[in-house]
Parts: sequence; C-alpha cells; structure tokens
Amino acid sequence: MKFDVLTLFPEMFSPLGQSITGKAVEKNLIDINLVNIRDFSENKHNKVDDTPYGGGAGMVMMPDVVYRAYQSVDKNLKENKAKVIYMSPQGKTLNQKKVEELSKEQHLIILCGHYEGIDQRVIDKIVDEEISIGDYVLTGGEIPAMVLIDSVSRYVEGVLNKESIEEESFSNGLLEYPQYTRPEVFEGMKVPDVLLSGHHENIDTWRKEQALKMTKKKRPDLLKK
Ligand code: SAM
Repeated sequence: MKFDVLTLFPEMFSPLGQSITGKAVEKNLIDINLVNIRDFSENKHNKVDDTPYGGGAGMVMMPDVVYRAYQSVDKNLKENKAKVIYMSPQGKTLNQKKVEELSKEQHLIILCGHYEGIDQRVIDKIVDEEISIGDYVLTGGEIPAMVLIDSVSRYVEGVLNKESIEEESFSNGLLEYPQYTRPEVFEGMKVPDVLLSGHHENIDTWRKEQALKMTKKKRPDLLKK
C-alpha cells in the first residue's frame, strides 16, 4: 500500500520508521513517500502561506503551492486514482471501521494542513474525504496523518498476524479481554487459573466473558451500538 504525504514538515514523520511500521516499510509492505509542500513554492522566499482574506489571526496555506505538490504525485498515476484525504478537525472522526475500509485502498494521498489551515479552493478541488482524529485542534495535520498511517498499516496483509487484529478492541464491537504474561505471580497477584489450564474452549469462553465485562465497565456506549 502506498501513502503519499503532502506536508510542510516531513521531518516530523521519523516515528513511522520505528517498530511495526518501520518493519512494514523495510519489507515493502507499505511505502511512505513524504512530499515537502515548500518545494513547490515559486516565491523567491519559499513562501507557502499568506494572511487570510477578510482579516483575522494566523496564516493560511496558499492553494497554488498545495496544488502543485498534489500534482507532483498525481501525475504519476494512471487510471488508478488515489484517494485524497485531508486531515482536518472538521472531518469525520476516525474509527476502526473507517481504518479497515481505508486499508482496502491501494494508494492514499494524505494532505496535512498547518497554521490556520488551507485555502478552501484547493480543498474543494482535490480532496475526496476529510478525516479528524478527535474533537480538538492540533497545530498541524502531521500527527493525525501518522495516526492514520499507523492504524491503516496494521490491516495491510503481512504487517501483523490476522489473529491479533481480529481479537483486538473495536474489531468485533467490544474491547479486548485482559492480557497476562510471565511471571505467574506479580506482587501477590496471580494469573487467572483458566489461562494456565491449557483448555482452549474454556479459555475462549473466559475471554469472551471478560471482553463483555471490560466493555460494560469502560465503554458501555459500545454495547448500546
Ligand atoms: N482553523 C482550523 C479550524 O478551526 O478548523 C484549524 C487549523 S489547525 C490549527 C491546522 C491543521 O492541523 C489543520 O489544517 C489540520 O490539517 C490539522 N488538524 C488539527 N486538528 C486536527 C484534528 N483533530 N484532526 C485532524 N487534523 C487536525
């Protein structure tokens, strides 16, 4: 799966080179191409933003610069058009269903805003979907883009084993059951006997019960859904 990221701050994406996403890149399961929007400024000072028409605080990213950055990746596409996502607090809030849906795409172009955001005209022209990571405002779309890439990559074949995704929180509408590992006794607290029994059916039943219990306690709203 390919991610083209249009950003003013490509240096911010180094965390994706670590851990599971880093391995996925190494194994060519995902490809993350960072495009620096500033490279497409035609201004001698590399200007990428300007004051808002109508007045007000902050700076707005200029539409022509963003459009040229977009065209630099889009022109390599043939008939398989990539989906263009703008990370925005005004978008639909990301959830596991959306993550799973996006993982079926071959190619995503992710646009990150900064400052007061991006001139509306280029958003109207190129963006297919706006996605938010929650009802709060961050300084830029880079962290939200990393959240999107990380969560979507987990569903790309070969990145994780299927079982761990299927049983995870939200996959079946519930939170996951509690997990335990060695030592068998920690600070006087013992691992539940059933997990040491080797009886797979009983373990499965216990885990289902625990998943329900956890969901009821921590996220009763999920049960209502
Ligand atoms: N002026 C905009 C507004 O009030 O809707 C907010 C701009 S915000 C300071 C700058 C950029 O950060 C946005 O263009 C967007 O790309 C990103 N951003 C901020 N909060 C976000 C969120 N919750 N989810 C996704 N992207 C976000």
